Amino acid sequence: MQSIYDFSEEELTAWLQERGEPRYRAAQVLEWVYRKRATGFGDMTSLPRDVRRKLADELQIGPLPIVSQREGRDSIKLLVGLEDGERVECVGMKTPWGGTACVSSQVGCPVGCAFCASGAGGLVRNLTTAEIVRQVLALTTRGVKVTNVVFMGMGEPLLNYEAVLGAVHTITSRGRMAIAPRHVTVGTAGVVPMIPRLARDTPAKLELAVSLGAPVDGVRRELVPGVARWPVAELMRACDEWTRLRGGQPVTYAYVLVAGVNDTLKLATQLAALLRTRRHHVNLIRMNPVEHCDLRPSSKEQTLAFARRLEERGINVSLRQSRGRDIEAACGQLRRSAAKAAGGRKAECGDGGRRPGGASKRGDGGAGRPGGRHDARGRKGPPRGAGEPERGTGGKPGRAGRDGAGPPGGGRKAPQGDGKGAGGRGSGGGRDAKGPGKRGSRGSKGGQGRPSGPPKARPGPPRRADRRGRSGPPASG
Ligand code: SF4
Repeated sequence: MQSIYDFSEEELTAWLQERGEPRYRAAQVLEWVYRKRATGFGDMTSLPRDVRRKLADELQIGPLPIVSQREGRDSIKLLVGLEDGERVECVGMKTPWGGTACVSSQVGCPVGCAFCASGAGGLVRNLTTAEIVRQVLALTTRGVKVTNVVFMGMGEPLLNYEAVLGAVHTITSRGRMAIAPRHVTVGTAGVVPMIPRLARDTPAKLELAVSLGAPVDGVRRELVPGVARWPVAELMRACDEWTRLRGGQPVTYAYVLVAGVNDTLKLATQLAALLRTRRHHVNLIRMNPVEHCDLRPSSKEQTLAFARRLEERGINVSLRQSRGRDIEAACGQLRRSAAKAAGGRKAECGDGGRRPGGASKRGDGGAGRPGGRHDARGRKGPPRGAGEPERGTGGKPGRAGRDGAGPPGGGRKAPQGDGKGAGGRGSGGGRDAKGPGKRGSRGSKGGQGRPSGPPKARPGPPRRADRRGRSGPPASG
């Protein structure tokens, strides 16, 4: 059944007119949906009864149904059900001033990060705009007062571009959810061709977070295989383009620290050299442990040493708390557990113990993981087609060239907009454009960071950065 959240105002107007309703009816319906937050068409008491019935007969409204939930001290993780029986996770983080919704953009993920449960089963399908928006609504029913949204749950948002763009539009538009764009962050593992496009298509001040994995290609290939086709140098050029197109807006680099893999001081020095001349902010996040995964989080001591090395070299760095270990907060983990409990095949990693590069404990090269490829030594390579646009909802990624991540074509249609929001204010020239220098003021300048004393972890309240939704969503990436 089609969802009301997939409609732009124009599309809803046409839909209602086809059923004999006047043009103004669409605005009435949308006011109920977004301003009054109706969760049933029966609630729309200002509409004639027969209109409510027509809507209810053909359209779906309300949050995604909650299949299960895990609640921690200040966070809640929901497993929500989709119409076709698939399930995805979303996480809410509660703060005294509001809350952050961390939403999924795909069922599974084609990128296959070595530290992430979501990537373990490969991609199942893309989510629609409505399925993303309805995760936010589901969290609000559990008491999360959503003031920030981060696209850092299951899936690679830039490989489901049109649906994510539609959701950004719905979340940020004044006539809809009206969450300020600066409180919305789109994460990516580094789908290079889509980064400049995101810069042009989204409202000024919306934030970009890149999960870097490592500052050098070899280690990055091991940890984030699905996007390793784009070397670090290309990724940096795309990030520079983001900053240029958006009037100096920095990029946030999420760096998941994995013990003995990407947490050495040498890599910290290389990371500092990579970012020092760029507009940046680095969020260090200790990896969340994932079942059947050999990788382990960096020790607290190594994490602090890594952060200190960055600070000494002029990097703006924050330590983010990996919240919610008690709620299986590593991205994809609750879905895997639930599927496993139900005896579902999808719960299985298939590689019986993941290591960088995907090699299995059993030495079987990770057999059984959909989309996997193996090199001559039997090590697993990137999943097929990761980094490419989907050809349609439910489609699997195919093979494409290096620059194959063009606009996803043929997926379910995302709303075309109601004249505001995504695409409308674009490239940093609008009134909300962030000027150069703003973010830099928070950190060190030109290599004169705080040279002594480790940076402190900032688990909870009151830093301004946290208010802006960068408080370390528990998703691994
Ligand atoms: S960390 Fe993100 S991009 Fe990587 S496999 Fe998990 S969901 Fe996909």
